[in-house]
Amino acid sequence: MASKAHTALAAFRAELAGEVFAPGDPGYDDARAVPNARTDRRPAVIARCAHVTDVVRAVRFARELDLHIAVRGGGLGLAGTEVDGALEVDLRRMCEVTVDPAAEAARVGGGATVGHLDRATLPYGLAATVGRAPGVGVAGCVLGGGTGPLDRAVGPAADHLIGVELVTADAERVHANADENPELFRALHGGGGNFGIATALTLTLHELPRLAAVTVLYRPESGPAAVRAFREVVGAGPDEAGGAALYLSGGPAPRCAALVTYAGGEEELRALAGPLTALPHEAEVRGARAPGLLYPPGGMRAHWSARCLTGLPDAAVEAVCALAADLPAPGSRLLLLPLGGAVAAGAAGAAGHPLPYQRAAWIVHPFACWADPADDERALARVRDACAGVRPWSTDAVPLTLIGDEGPERVRAGLGEGNLLRLEKLKRRYDPDNVFRFNHNIRPL
Ligand SMILES: Cc1cc2nc3c(=O)[nH]c(=O)nc-3n(C[C@H](O)[C@H](O)[C@H](O)COP(=O)(O)OP(=O)(O)OC[C@H]3O[C@@H](n4cnc5c(N)ncnc54)[C@H](O)[C@@H]3O)c2cc1C
Repeated sequence: MASKAHTALAAFRAELAGEVFAPGDPGYDDARAVPNARTDRRPAVIARCAHVTDVVRAVRFARELDLHIAVRGGGLGLAGTEVDGALEVDLRRMCEVTVDPAAEAARVGGGATVGHLDRATLPYGLAATVGRAPGVGVAGCVLGGGTGPLDRAVGPAADHLIGVELVTADAERVHANADENPELFRALHGGGGNFGIATALTLTLHELPRLAAVTVLYRPESGPAAVRAFREVVGAGPDEAGGAALYLSGGPAPRCAALVTYAGGEEELRALAGPLTALPHEAEVRGARAPGLLYPPGGMRAHWSARCLTGLPDAAVEAVCALAADLPAPGSRLLLLPLGGAVAAGAAGAAGHPLPYQRAAWIVHPFACWADPADDERALARVRDACAGVRPWSTDAVPLTLIGDEGPERVRAGLGEGNLLRLEKLKRRYDPDNVFRFNHNIRPL
């Protein structure tokens, strides 16, 4: 590091209330690690910020040294993970969640995860709809236009944004909501981390006094019948019914499972899920919260992608079930997530923009998980094959949160053509140097 950089780094270490890690520092390797063992991030400097003033300091430091900036929340993102040479702003310490039960809203720190959010809101009988695993970063998922477990009942996650507190590429603190900076607020419905670092979000919550769930596990040969039954259960059921049909690798053959969640009572769910429990099955698990079955735990090598389907005819069911047989063991999943309901009905909130995938009917989401680096190519090919296998029924639309770096055309398809142009213009205003580029990148026009 040149002497200017040394001096600046020393000053940065002294002024940050949080911690600074550079290569060679004790703690650097722990700080750069993420749950996906395949991701090997080697930032030039990691700033683990304690509060918003630290974030401002970190952005100023990066600009002084001409460093690009990577943002780390939950650390589960698959796009823009090659952050070598960048400053990483690590928000994990900024994970506080404050619930206002009267307003049915929560202020969520920029580094908070779904686990933090659920722990804070559920005691009040309130819930948000963000990602389906506790480790998912709330900001990464919501700003990226992601999907949540209650979307069919309450509408897309991004539509629950009331406001965002942001530090921009100029190290300015700005608020974005329906009244202040409305164009920026709109851009944060899907534009992800392209416009700045969200130090806090305010989200609307929903009353959720009851949430019932049942998971039914089938032998592999019953898979197609189970997926068809799940399709009928969700299709004929109310918007409050959701969940997933999925395959899990491991064992001699992948197991099929159907998870039905219902924002209502146990008895209604029992009736609703009748066609699934009537099929021959191996096990049935009931519980107020869906078991952590949808995704494998972190720590292994992982890669995933997604395709949206306009419908799920029997031929598509057969194709999906056949593809599941090829997923690498031991922890892979092939998920079929239903959309529709309030996702399709919900024109995005006042400042929002309905993302193209929200009009689709289903998401096919292969999530490969394996241990040996020697299997990397094979696992990546399986994910590609699964997406290619459903091509006849798919649209180009895709939730960007569910894909990695798959090229600019996929970003365009995820955001929508006209919308992307509008976002590119706004990017020029807020981040003309594309400092925030480790994401599904929107280039400044
Ligand atoms: C186990 C698992 C379950 C998942 N479940 C779902 C799901 O149900 N629905 C869904 O849509 N997606 C889901 N995802 C995908 C997940 O939403 C995305 O990977 C998301 O980007 C993760 O955000 P993160 O903060 O955890 O990751 P990070 O890698 O920390 O962040 C990803 C990107 O988000 C941006 N970002 C994060 N925090 C901020 C911030 N505070 N300010 C500005 N930008 C920020 C940055 O651009 C960053 O590069 C899942 C992923 C996994 C691995």
